[in-house]
Amino acid sequence: MKTARLSAIYLEENLFAERIRIEAIIRPGLPVFRITGTNGRSRDREERIRTALLASGIQFPYCTVLVNLSPADRVKGSALLDLPIAVCLMLAIGVPGLRRRIDRQTLFLGELSLTGEICDLPELAAWALCGADAGFSRVFLPLSAGTRLPQSAVSWIGVRHLSDIIEGQVEQVGLILEPLIRNLPAFEIPDRILRMLLLAAAGKHGLLFVGPPGSGKSVAARLLYELLPDPDAVERRRIIKNGLLFRDMDLTGTRPLRQPHHSITVTGMVGGGTPLRAGEANRASDGLLLLDELSEYDRQVIEALREPLESHEISHNRGGRPGRLPARFWLAATANPCPCGYFNSKGRVCHCSRIHTDKRKQLLSGPFADRIDLQTVYEKGMPAVLRTADDLIDIRRKILRAVEIQRARNGSAYNGELVGLGVDDFCTLADERADRVWLEIRENTISRRRSAGIRRLARTIADLDEASCIRAEDLLEARSYSLPENFWEAPPPLAARLKPRRRA
Ligand SMILES: [Zn+2]
Repeated sequence: MKTARLSAIYLEENLFAERIRIEAIIRPGLPVFRITGTNGRSRDREERIRTALLASGIQFPYCTVLVNLSPADRVKGSALLDLPIAVCLMLAIGVPGLRRRIDRQTLFLGELSLTGEICDLPELAAWALCGADAGFSRVFLPLSAGTRLPQSAVSWIGVRHLSDIIEGQVEQVGLILEPLIRNLPAFEIPDRILRMLLLAAAGKHGLLFVGPPGSGKSVAARLLYELLPDPDAVERRRIIKNGLLFRDMDLTGTRPLRQPHHSITVTGMVGGGTPLRAGEANRASDGLLLLDELSEYDRQVIEALREPLESHEISHNRGGRPGRLPARFWLAATANPCPCGYFNSKGRVCHCSRIHTDKRKQLLSGPFADRIDLQTVYEKGMPAVLRTADDLIDIRRKILRAVEIQRARNGSAYNGELVGLGVDDFCTLADERADRVWLEIRENTISRRRSAGIRRLARTIADLDEASCIRAEDLLEARSYSLPENFWEAPPPLAARLKPRRRA
């Protein structure tokens, strides 16, 4: 009896990678070839594999050949499993020299044709990157697929035919990613708003501008995308992988920018459905999710974003098994405080009813807004300063430095992604004065979540100054990026301010 084992991956719903084990046994008996553990799918697989092996010059054994895929309860219908099964059989048959070249960290990907040719498929590059994440260090795949994948610690090994694997005629492949070049034109922006953009970009903090129409808040929120730090190698590989998994076209590793229309559904925003599809929040992962006119979105859509803002992923239940899709985005949102937009505005009088403003108050001071660390009122006519290309180079340099400091301290997490114990561990206070200010903030802030947000933001302010601990002034500045406490206190109703008309 001859046996062999090989590891492979299976991508459920083309989104979730699962490591599976292939076992092959060749034993004396009737000439039968059976594959079990596919949960009833792909019954024609045996014929395809047998024909491909024969076409590659392998004498198929005239005895009982059994292959099992485990765990057995999953449906493993994809034709992409034909190749690893064929390789596992070749190991069991004892093809000379093959065992030496294959170990447990070797993965085989590709569609096996009847002639033994290894063909490319659109989803193959996504499988390969998921395989790398699952711990495989060498991936054999069709040459054309290898040229789409960024070079990394994993060896991408290009092959054309099953006989290439048998004879060891392989080629190391991989794409060297071009550096991303971004040009930003000069623009005018108020100092305070620019400072908030800088903090949001450096620490991955959520950003919310509330103000009347035409104040420039949408343009400023969009500007955040231009200031985002360039992705490092890990982020870039993740962006490419998500792009492949979610079927987005741009595969250069540029940070995504998603601006969903306010008619979007909950499923469209956070994913869902059968089969499971990614939503805009997933597609914006490692990039910017821009929500213009927040209050126009369905309330449930906004509430659904609470989970990714807290945990940076979205959980889905798939037939009793949990599945998590990434959602590590920067959030920038704008909102009018009322339908006309001039509630509490210096320039004009608001004519809206109390019911409308109360609705927005609930949204912009509720649990969703608590998760947004940077908030301000963006008034019309705030004095703006022209920023030149040199200013922007300087701003980008500061952001990159702050990101480097965070990576050295927090690992892969940005300050804005710290939750729970991470906030206390990494956001240490400098001295007694900072302690006093922090206690005062904690006592006077309505929610614990909001006060944690202030401390995270203070950490980013300190990082921009390259200070090792949070100082009192960092906490005070962080607290200043909130809507004024009395913002929602309505001015007297319009009718009371106007003189009653005399009846004719
Ligand atoms: Zn109004």
